[in-house]
Amino acid sequence: MAGQSAHYLRLEEQYGAHNYHPLPVVLEKGEGVFVWDVEGKQYFDFLSGYSAVNQGHCHPRIIQALIQQAQKLTLTSRAFHSNLLGEYAEFITRYFGYDKVLPMNTGVEGGETAVKLARRWAYDKKGVPENQAKVIFARGNFWGRTMAAISSSTDPSSYKGFGPYMPGFELVPYNNIPELEKALQDKNVAAFMVEPIQGEAGVVVPDAGYLTRVRELCTQYNVLFIADEIQTGLARTGKMLACDHENVRPDMLILGKALSGGTMPVSAVLADDEVMLNIKPGEHGSTYGGNPLACAVAMEALKVLKEEKLAENAAAMGELFRSRLEALQSPHIQLVRGKGLLNAAVIAHPDAEAAWTLCLELKDLGLLAKPTHGDKIRFAPPLVINEEQINDSISIISNALQRL
Ligand code: PLP
Repeated sequence: MAGQSAHYLRLEEQYGAHNYHPLPVVLEKGEGVFVWDVEGKQYFDFLSGYSAVNQGHCHPRIIQALIQQAQKLTLTSRAFHSNLLGEYAEFITRYFGYDKVLPMNTGVEGGETAVKLARRWAYDKKGVPENQAKVIFARGNFWGRTMAAISSSTDPSSYKGFGPYMPGFELVPYNNIPELEKALQDKNVAAFMVEPIQGEAGVVVPDAGYLTRVRELCTQYNVLFIADEIQTGLARTGKMLACDHENVRPDMLILGKALSGGTMPVSAVLADDEVMLNIKPGEHGSTYGGNPLACAVAMEALKVLKEEKLAENAAAMGELFRSRLEALQSPHIQLVRGKGLLNAAVIAHPDAEAAWTLCLELKDLGLLAKPTHGDKIRFAPPLVINEEQINDSISIISNALQRL
């Protein structure tokens, strides 16, 4: 590791908590699909900040919106109104077709908000007895690191050693309709919260028709369908929302990550009045939620997605990427799966560390990707990637595979 990078790695190691295991690369610049390290080396970014940078690094329009608003007003808190919150609320609710939005910051806060809204709806509207509401999650889910999120996790590295856990959460297997139906029959169930494709679990794509049946069953049993589209939403899978692939409309939609194009934490929960208006003034919120800077940035980030047809590009480039990757016929790739530009390869190799080693080789050759759950590598570049860049990245992946 060269001098400058080594210096920054040492600083993080010494003064930062050791709660991540990053690839040893120190970045200082980004533009479109590329990032550069402190030595000036260029890389394809095939992680996109876990799908937060769908519009590409430092998108000029989003940065312009950020700078302009930052020079005017950044935070009012919700103690006062701003001239942008109403405009943003109208914009995003029309964009996705819901009555109301509740703005938060990080993705996990969006999840927490959805769970609170679901519990309150269950008590106020469904008639569930006080403190009895249940929320169902799918095994393998990931929605963040708060106590509520880890209480629904099946991954020991998320929950182990952090108990006691939040009560009222139950688990069903992902992509399993009969088990879901059994769980929904319990009259105290408020909601089923699910990722349309499980991202952190390794891009697990459910069977066609799964979301349609989820929608039907939730309606049948009077249970709220909460779609966690924090990773899958905002054009990543080749449609504006992953739910759009089956034309299903969740009762609550959680968005985050690319809602700000990778510039700042902005999340949102969208729902209709029947759900949203049960929470009254003073019962939920956040100092930064709905701040004017976030409102300006989110509106521009959403406009960019549509005006640059990034969902269409993700669909086309995703097809191309998967077919080229499969065509390599590498003995080290057991499976390629995904939708749009949310893809993963399952690595087959006697060495259990092979996926990590492959990511190090990819880094040397100029492409950044990260293993998830040991043997899977996620390939999720910014959605502005073009055909030539897909071809270049496939050449890099091919070369790296040959080094394994
Ligand atoms: N939900 C999903 C599906 C995610 O993939 C993530 C993060 O990876 C989250 C929620 C949590 O978002 P954040 O890290 O912004 O809290």
